[in-house]
Amino acid sequence: MMKRRASRPVNIGGVTVGGGAPVIVQSMTNTDTRDAAATIEQIRGLEEAGCEIIRVAVPDRRAAEAIVDIKKGISLPLVADIHFDYRLALAALESGADGLRINPGNIGDEDRVKQVVLAAKERSVPIRIGLNAGSLPKTQYRSGSVAARMVNAALAYVRQMEALDFNLIKISLKAFDVPTTIEAYRLIAEQVPYPLHVGITEAGTPRTGVIRSSVGIGTLLWLGIGDTIRVSLTAPPVEEVTVAYEILKSLDLRARGPVLVSCPSCGRSEADVIGLAQAVEERLAKVTKPVRVAVMGCVVNGPGEAKDADVGIACGKGRGVIFKKGQKLRTVEEADYLEALMKEVESL
Ligand code: SF4
Repeated sequence: MMKRRASRPVNIGGVTVGGGAPVIVQSMTNTDTRDAAATIEQIRGLEEAGCEIIRVAVPDRRAAEAIVDIKKGISLPLVADIHFDYRLALAALESGADGLRINPGNIGDEDRVKQVVLAAKERSVPIRIGLNAGSLPKTQYRSGSVAARMVNAALAYVRQMEALDFNLIKISLKAFDVPTTIEAYRLIAEQVPYPLHVGITEAGTPRTGVIRSSVGIGTLLWLGIGDTIRVSLTAPPVEEVTVAYEILKSLDLRARGPVLVSCPSCGRSEADVIGLAQAVEERLAKVTKPVRVAVMGCVVNGPGEAKDADVGIACGKGRGVIFKKGQKLRTVEEADYLEALMKEVESL
């Protein structure tokens, strides 16, 4: 069993990140933040999918002001993502943001960062120091690996905040490159007590982005590193949440909704296993209870191979066997596979 890294908890609008709390799933809206109604609608959909903290981009003052209205329409903690203009961070705090994400390097001089930190401190609002490999300060940290440079830059910002007696800190060090990201998080994990927000940035479209994110985030989580995760995909954000939970479920870190076990099918199968598994997956998307469901391609090996499943189907020639915990329950006709299986899922 993995041993999770001990970290100091921070409270983001009522959600604890770090300190042994469950790994929190977050996402980011892709609506225009100034359009409060559209942003609220998207956040509600994300919450339904299991998102626990939401981040919105704050590119200008109107976006910062819209946070007031957005907060009225949602129940998730909201993190304001600020680049470049420290005044937007101050405005977002005034609007009631529950957390800030800044890259201090692009906020500008120390005094500006100081003003943001002191305003956050006054409201007990945590700040994520969010460094990306692509936006490392150009003039500093020229030597060493990209990971080491990211860590050194982050540590300098950490020390700056600590000098202001501010420790509501979270850190992320994301890169597109998976080994760089893993190295960066491993290095920083040993040097600070703060919770870590883990992700692979600009991971790509679902086909490749899911794999890059799963390998990067999954490896770190298995090393015990990571208090909150965000999967970045070039896709509707609700997909990020689904993938995040699949990563967490695969490591037994969180339970949410069903787990689908399905065999790849082989020469022994006499059924459309792929079609059936896809149809079952679609129907399971609406199920919230943590149930393990199996779709197997033959009656010989199916039930045995899926013995840990709560309920499953093993497809034979024109007829299939519904089973529970590996034990045969009854036989059904091919046309009834989907409904018979779902009936058992619902009865659990
Ligand atoms: Fe092949 Fe049966 Fe195993 Fe599926 S369960 S892969 S059909 S042996």
